[in-house]
Amino acid sequence: MALDGCEVSLRQGIGVAPGVCVGRAVVLDDAEQNANLGSEAVVLVARTFSPEDVLSMDVKLVAGFVAATGGPTAPAGIVAAGAGLVAVLACRSYDEIQTGDLLVLDGATGDVVVNPSPKTLELYQKRGSQYSLDKEYLQGDDYLAAETRDGLKIDLLASVDLVDALPHAITSGATGIGLLRSEFYYLTDDGPPSESFLTALYQHGLSSVAPLPVTIRCLDLHGGAQVAGFSPGSCQNPALGLKGVRFLQAYPELFKTQLRALYRASASGKLRILLPMIGSLDELLAVKALLVEVQDELCGAGVMLGADVEVGMMIEVPSAVFMAPYLAREVDFFVIGSNDLIQYGLALDRLDGAVAHLYDPLHPAILQMIEQVVRAGHGAGIAVGLSGEMAAVGLYTPLLVGLGLDWLSMQVQALSLVKKMIRTSLAGECTALAEHLLGQSSARISRQYLQEYVQDNYADVGVFVA
Ligand code: PEP
Ligand code: MG
Repeated sequence: MALDGCEVSLRQGIGVAPGVCVGRAVVLDDAEQNANLGSEAVVLVARTFSPEDVLSMDVKLVAGFVAATGGPTAPAGIVAAGAGLVAVLACRSYDEIQTGDLLVLDGATGDVVVNPSPKTLELYQKRGSQYSLDKEYLQGDDYLAAETRDGLKIDLLASVDLVDALPHAITSGATGIGLLRSEFYYLTDDGPPSESFLTALYQHGLSSVAPLPVTIRCLDLHGGAQVAGFSPGSCQNPALGLKGVRFLQAYPELFKTQLRALYRASASGKLRILLPMIGSLDELLAVKALLVEVQDELCGAGVMLGADVEVGMMIEVPSAVFMAPYLAREVDFFVIGSNDLIQYGLALDRLDGAVAHLYDPLHPAILQMIEQVVRAGHGAGIAVGLSGEMAAVGLYTPLLVGLGLDWLSMQVQALSLVKKMIRTSLAGECTALAEHLLGQSSARISRQYLQEYVQDNYADVGVFVA
């Protein structure tokens, strides 16, 4: 929403994290994303940005970016939030912006203001200062445990994209790493990284936060991303193609190289290996056989492996939800990937801004699926965590606590808010809330109920949540 009293030329999109940035626009051609940047920080504008584009942005030169594509869980937005960049996605009138326009972006509301008046600029700058104050207030509890008022502990873990970001995640209040997306090390022009490079990288990451756990997800390519020399096939829709574990099975040597590096590094800390996008028991068993093969090979070569490596799988597709009771017997933990569970459960392409408004974690089918997975996991005696953007939104925290998740993994910026929400909660009331929402058949009604519930019960924190 634009600020009251502003005469603005406003383009609305989807913001990825609270923050305001101001800068001159540099409009990039899709084919040529290298801009000639001056010394002032600019706001990049393009139809689309890949996560690799975002990772290569120099935060001293780039204050933020606007894209026409993407939705609330688009990988480029996730990486932007992790890097502390202000970003607005799914801004459909982005092509009306010209290079040289002065832009203000509000990363919470998705406002993009073009050539603001001095008064409008001042109002947005005040809003930016308020976001910083809110953040400071929420960070006050960073050193305390994520525990409800009646003593239920929930592990708050961080989701990160790069190994170097691990220590900062821990000093920001995480008690471990719930998701290290390993794909960014594969997306260079030089092809996949070598076993020795990956071994050193993982050793460094594990030891940098030991003895806290680091969950490293095996290579999971998003939205048509390619590893040089390895084709994901010429599919029409990459989200339904050779993705996640399907890609790894198509290229077992590539997969085994990563697995060898993981096990070689495993003695350096507490490693949890996470398998992406498993869709069936047969798929899981085939992958587990490969894991055993790699371990035997390394043991045969005299490599010392970590004693307590855990192996878990992501629950991201409806078939895995249905099969959860069987899958749970074969792994040490489940991680619900809420971004993909919503993508596949509701048939919404994460990269398509045109369907972004339909993305709804409160869809009754999504809540039912989460509940089923938690029940199946706990029935088999394994822990169940949840990652993805749903975990980072304070509004959903009491519901997720009530649904019985053992841990939540989120972008580092969200840890303080979610911890505050947990510390304000009563576990018994969260359970009653979850039961109430599981009985609803309309996401709209559930949202209204939840918003009122949070306003009534989280007065101190609620202001940051809605
Ligand atoms: C998810 O799907 O929720 C998830 C955490 O993984 P990614 O966003 O990398 O697909
Ligand atoms: Mg996923």
